[in-house]
Parts: sequence; structure tokens; C-alpha cells
Amino acid sequence: KVRTRIAPSPTGFLHLGTARTALYSWAYARHHGGEFVLRIEDTDVARSTQDSVDQIIAAMNWLGLSYDEGPVYQMQRLDRYQAVVEQLIAEGKAYRCYATPQELEAMREAQRARGEKTLYDRRWRPEPGRQLPAPPEGVKPVIRFANPVDGEVTWDDLVKGPITIANKEIDDLIIVRQDGVPTYNFAVVVDDWDMRISHVFRGDEHVNNTPWQINIFRALEAPLPRFGHLPIILGDDGLKLSKRRGAVSVMDYAANGYLPEGMLNYLARLGWSHGDEELFTAEQMVAWFDGSHLSRSPAQWDPAKLDWVNGHYVKQIDEGRLADLVVAQLTGKGIKVASGEVLPKLGLFKDRCATVAALADWLAMYFAPAAPSAEDLAAHVTEAVRPALAALAERLSALPDWNKAAIQQALKETLAATGLKMPQLAVPVRVLVCGRAQTPSLDAVLEHFDKKKVLDRLQSVRN
Ligand code: GLU
Repeated sequence: KVRTRIAPSPTGFLHLGTARTALYSWAYARHHGGEFVLRIEDTDVARSTQDSVDQIIAAMNWLGLSYDEGPVYQMQRLDRYQAVVEQLIAEGKAYRCYATPQELEAMREAQRARGEKTLYDRRWRPEPGRQLPAPPEGVKPVIRFANPVDGEVTWDDLVKGPITIANKEIDDLIIVRQDGVPTYNFAVVVDDWDMRISHVFRGDEHVNNTPWQINIFRALEAPLPRFGHLPIILGDDGLKLSKRRGAVSVMDYAANGYLPEGMLNYLARLGWSHGDEELFTAEQMVAWFDGSHLSRSPAQWDPAKLDWVNGHYVKQIDEGRLADLVVAQLTGKGIKVASGEVLPKLGLFKDRCATVAALADWLAMYFAPAAPSAEDLAAHVTEAVRPALAALAERLSALPDWNKAAIQQALKETLAATGLKMPQLAVPVRVLVCGRAQTPSLDAVLEHFDKKKVLDRLQSVRN
């Protein structure tokens, strides 16, 4: 049975890279009718927080990545790790090492001086016919895994293809620290084994850990999962995507008005393809995601493409939901409004918006005072155009019905009476009423305003 997992360390928000790994793991499990597990790797006690767990779960929920088991916390499984360690020690597959940090540093120093790779020299490893010194007083040991000395480790990576590492290149890994807490490479194996994980997707940075993990699986006589290491995501400057270079938190994108559909679709394409398809739903991805067509080269984070994908969903989603999201954005700007007031105005603007935040920026003009910039006022609302604005205000004021056709008629009559061209009149109206020089078709924009508000704003120029 296919079982996948995502195993974030709860030391911050859900990073985009982890979100992509979670998405692929989830889609792969769903594609095969399998199960997807959430495991919290919280053995870095000093840096792990419940708040981070909550944020990670919120982001998974927002993306719609439902899990079938979990969250499972590693720190609640210490007894289990302990039992496995004891078994390994009893079988001679792990051992206590009393070397102090100073001794180890001296060892590495000597290795460097000889031009050798710095590897632990197995000084505390029990070997047949070898006499170990008595454990020193007062030194708490770490536990090391007795890695095979000869041979090699090979696996057929789901992304990278076959990979082989000689055992002489890797040393006897610490699997339990002095404080009794297991290290990542050990806990992850016990967990993947106990949770019957069949396929492990994770970031490239773990490729070097995999040989150790495979050796530990073998020592435990546990079935090996398949591994797939996803290439890193680069920022548009070609460097690894990181906080310093912009938002990397999934929930930051949510707050900035991206839709889960857009984010999921964009993340899916960041390292995977299905023919020429660029726009697809989560269901389609699940139908297609069979582990093939995963890219081997780094992915490039492309904000413009994300905006394009997201804009597609801004146009597509149910308008009632869109209205609620716009209301939430407006509330964030301190603008109180009911979604019933937002709803009829969406159609006029949503086609030009990449995000809900951009849409809320447009709609704010209906619910908050217009705030034209001094530049726009000076450039467009000139002395020369003021009489025409007054004449337009009078015509609008006299209209018996407030609708697009009537407003259009009033604009035309004002042009005829003043000899102005449409932009000469429409731009100053936009600046005064909408607070910006460009908008969709003016009659349509004005129609959605209260008539009184339009007149007040047109007349504000006299003060
Ligand atoms: N806690 C590890 C990480 O966040 C998990 C790696 C793995 O999936 O094995 O990178």
C-alpha cells in the first residue's frame, strides 16, 4: 500500500519548499489510493514550538492537503527509539562512544593534516579481538550506528535515478545524542518503518543522509521505502529561495491575497509537468501524478507566473467566496463592508486582478474616501477642466435614473457642451471619484457608486 508522509520540523512557518514536498507526497498517495501522514520532527527541542505546528497545520489545511494520520510527534516516541537503540546495541549494530569534542577535533585536525576526509575513526567501535579502554569517568556517551565498513549503498531515486555511495565514504553516525534524544537520521528511519512509509519525497539537501538511513533500515531488517529527492527552488536571483529574498511562507501568500487553488497549481508545476498543462485542479493533479515527469533540475520561483496562475482562479472561483475574501482583505485595511455590497462590483474588476488583495485595492474606492495623489490632482484636475466637472456634476445630479446608460449620456452631453474629448473629462473624474487616473470604463465604474458619493467627490474640487 502506498503511504507517504511530510515530516516538517516545527521551527517556523510552512516553507514553500516543504509545501511543494507535501503536495507531491499527498498527490502521490491520493493517486494510488494510499495514505498520507503528517509527522512533526520536533527533536530540536530548543527551536520547536507548538505555534509553529499550528501554523504548519493551518497552511496544510489552506492548501487542502488532508492527511490520514497525525500529527505524530517524535518527542512522544522517545521510548520507542530507546527500545530500538537497545536492540541495535544488543545486536552489535550500535555502540556507545565516549570520545570528547576535544578528542574528536584533534582527530579531525590530524586527518586534515594528512589530507584525508574527516571521518570518525571508530575508536569506540567494538570489534572482534579488539580491547576497548574502560569508559572514562563522568563522560556521557553518544550512541553511534556501526555503519558497514565495506561495500556500497545504491538506490534508484524516484527523481534522480540510480545513486551509489561507497560505505568507506561515510562514518559511524551518531544516532542518540548525549542528552538521550535521537538524531534526525535515526528517528526518521524508525518512524518511516513504524508508519509503513512506502515512498519518501523530500528535498535535495537530504540526499547525503539517505545512505546512512538505508544502512539503518537494513540493520533493522525493515523494508526499504523508495526515495525521491526534489531539487531546490531558486529565487529569481538564482539563489536558494529564502526569507531574506521575499516571502517563503505559504500563509504569507494567503495573507497577500493568493488563492489556495492558484498556489497549489503553481507549486505543482514547480518541478513537475504533465504535457503542456499549465492550469489544472487538485483533482486533475491527483489523477496525473504518478511519480513520473519530476524534474531533475532546480526549479525557478517565478512571481509573474504565480500571478498569472492565481489570476486565472480569481476569475474562476465562485463569486460569493470571492466576495468574502475581498471583505476579509478590506477588513484588514480597516474598511468595514458586507459581502453583499462587494458582490455586484466584482465582475467589473476581477479580470484585471492577479490576487484578491489587488481586487480589494480596486474595490476600496467604493467604501473608503478617495485619496487622489497630489501629482494626479495637479496633472489632471486643472483649472481649465473645472467648469466641465461642475457641468457634469449638474447633469449627473439631474438624472432621474442612476445607471450606466444614463451616466454615459450625461458624459456625452458634457463633452458636447464643453468641446472636450472623453479622456480630458474622464481622467479628472477618475482622479476625483476613484482616486486614480485609470479605471475600467467610467460609466460602469460610476454606476456602482452611490450617486451622492460621486457628486460629493466631484464637488470636492471647489474647496
Ligand atoms: N524534518 C526534515 C526536514 O524538514 C524531514 C526530512 C525528511 O523528509 O526525511 O527537512
